[in-house]
Amino acid sequence: MIKADVLVIGSGISGLSYAIKVSEHLPDAKIIIVTKSDEDESNTKYAQGGLAVVTDLKNDNFEKHIEDTMRAGDGENKRDIVEMVVREAPARFNEIVEWGAKFDMKNGEFALGREGGHTENRIVHHKDITGFEIERALLETAKNSPNIEILDHHYVIDIITQHHVPGKELNQGDIHCYGAYILDEKSKKIKKITSKITLAATGGAGHVYKNTTNPTIATGDGIAFVARAKGKVTNMQYYQFHPTALYSKIDGMLFLISEAVRGDGAKLRTKKGEKFMHKYDEREELASRDIVARAIDNEMKISGDEYAGLDCRTMDHEKFLEHFPNIYKKCREEGIDPFTQLIPIVPACHYLMGGIEVDRDGQSSIRNLFAVGECTNSGLHGANRLASNSLLEGLVFGHNAAMKTISLLDKNNFNFDDLKAVPEWNEEGMKIMDEMVIISYLRKQLQEMMSDLVGIVRSNKRLTMAMQKHQEIAAAVDEIYHYSILSPQLSELRNLTTVAHLIITESMQMTENKGAFYNKDLA
Ligand SMILES: Cc1cc2nc3c(=O)[nH]c(=O)nc-3n(C[C@H](O)[C@H](O)[C@H](O)COP(=O)(O)OP(=O)(O)OC[C@H]3O[C@@H](n4cnc5c(N)ncnc54)[C@H](O)[C@@H]3O)c2cc1C
Repeated sequence: MIKADVLVIGSGISGLSYAIKVSEHLPDAKIIIVTKSDEDESNTKYAQGGLAVVTDLKNDNFEKHIEDTMRAGDGENKRDIVEMVVREAPARFNEIVEWGAKFDMKNGEFALGREGGHTENRIVHHKDITGFEIERALLETAKNSPNIEILDHHYVIDIITQHHVPGKELNQGDIHCYGAYILDEKSKKIKKITSKITLAATGGAGHVYKNTTNPTIATGDGIAFVARAKGKVTNMQYYQFHPTALYSKIDGMLFLISEAVRGDGAKLRTKKGEKFMHKYDEREELASRDIVARAIDNEMKISGDEYAGLDCRTMDHEKFLEHFPNIYKKCREEGIDPFTQLIPIVPACHYLMGGIEVDRDGQSSIRNLFAVGECTNSGLHGANRLASNSLLEGLVFGHNAAMKTISLLDKNNFNFDDLKAVPEWNEEGMKIMDEMVIISYLRKQLQEMMSDLVGIVRSNKRLTMAMQKHQEIAAAVDEIYHYSILSPQLSELRNLTTVAHLIITESMQMTENKGAFYNKDLA
């Protein structure tokens, strides 16, 4: 058994920035970060475009960033949260610069990019690998903090609540979190880590769909284990599809062609090279992501083409190479020359706006469980996220959650009897699964169903069919789960099944189209 003051689940921007903050203020607190893959593997690492923050006070101001965020979210955002995040952004940005993250400069100022939905240039970036640079700097800072321990390849199966404590009943109105059960993938042992405070910073769930820009870690684990623990999870019907992922014949993680490329002048075309965005929105290529993704989806459905094109041929080549070296390299590796050919693109599942419901301090509905970042519904994004607002969300809520954690640890008013009484994980009667093919088969079925029936465009009929198919898959997953020794693959499948159920259920409850949610029967 391991005891911690703070258990952080996830080593992306949200988990790391939170842990560093707590560590700086409480150098004697024991902070453990567990992460299910290599320590840097996260959505954060793949972020390209950058971080939205008002730094150019000559041309930009907080009001404009607030209004852009509200417009992208279709008014479903919580205005007070949007205002708080936008106004705190410069302070949080300065902090990661102090922690060593480097951003591109121009004439002594931060170089600012523009992305869809922003009315000003306000995206600070590090070439087209901003997330990689932020992750590098944060990991380095965390590793230099003597009271932070990072355990990689440690997979959280479930958070621990009263439900696990012998003789305790789960009181739905007052659920407490006492840490987590964690599979150490190297020793294959399930560990119990109890903690006074736990943070879920587990990222998104892109792999609930067939094609996604997300890395394989994005299986909605945190959302699923909070939902299972009867914590509040909301807004799951809002999933953003990125309009321009690099087309591939192989399903899975697709390479993202950042929105910043369109911000710099790239144009959308059909496979045959015809323009079409003018038919959908007067902002054309720079309309918000839901509009652009639906437009591409519609054009592909009309033509039957398997992809559309992104035209970078008339862009300034030198500037392109300077700003997007990684995108250029990836295209060339795929045999595409962006300066002479259209880049084949498709919309792909990208960012989840819903998740664990949290307040402005990142507190979930479960006592002593905080949640930050893409796994949450904080009220910032509403029905659709404005580009480059999510790295920012991780930093601002990471800070707020850390401040609240520090005050709770200072008060030290925790249920120590329950913490002591948490039992070890029980594997009695379970068998090792000898056929992983069943898990991959069910996962594919789930992803196919979600992509075909609960994708960019939904309908009442499709949602009803999706629910029926889901019941079939969920029953099969449940059966395997109850007799098998746990593996990350099985647990991820179970989590994806939970996430799919939440998306379908909340989609069925919608009575009007909002932001990224679109049901053609409600149009
Ligand atoms: C290709 C791409 C480009 C993007 N570009 C931008 C951009 O330019 N600007 C922007 O603002 N946003 C961008 N985003 C979105 C942004 O990167 C994410 O929303 C953000 O990084 C989420 O950070 P996070 O810390 O909340 O989660 P993540 O960075 O995803 O970290 C989640 C962590 O949790 C761990 N984890 C998950 N489940 C478990 C478990 N069961 N047990 C243990 N550990 C677990 C993971 O291993 C990982 O370490 C992009 C996303 C992608 C995929």
